[in-house]
Amino acid sequence: MLHCPTCQGRLRRVHRNFAEKLLYVAMYECGKCHTRKPDPRWYALYLGDYPRCPRCGTYRLTRLATRDKIDQMLKGPVNWVQFMWGADLYHCRYCRVQFYDVRKPVAPEVREKAAAAVSMGAAAQGSEAE
Ligand SMILES: [Zn+2]
Ligand SMILES: [Zn+2]
Repeated sequence: MLHCPTCQGRLRRVHRNFAEKLLYVAMYECGKCHTRKPDPRWYALYLGDYPRCPRCGTYRLTRLATRDKIDQMLKGPVNWVQFMWGADLYHCRYCRVQFYDVRKPVAPEVREKAAAAVSMGAAAQGSEAE
């Protein structure tokens, strides 16, 4: 049983709106104070909302239909799990690395958000550059 972070009351499961469905497995609401507490999807929790390069963090990725024979494949359990999950294959041209990612921008508004995040990410990378 989940408890409210505010008043320790009992949480009940409530319907999610569209954006919440993308991000959370479930949404809970407190019966007493109506505090809402999301249950995030594991990949939203660990990796963010959109396919993103695990090395440099860019959202500017190329989706590959087949595995590239020259560029290396990302190693590690997260990549392996996503491959087993049937994730799409992506390629980062900056790092020349391939990896699997289950996240998909499914709606136009999500794509716009991803584009905004790309410009924000590029700015952040610029300030980090040596
Ligand atoms: Zn509460
Ligand atoms: Zn990269």
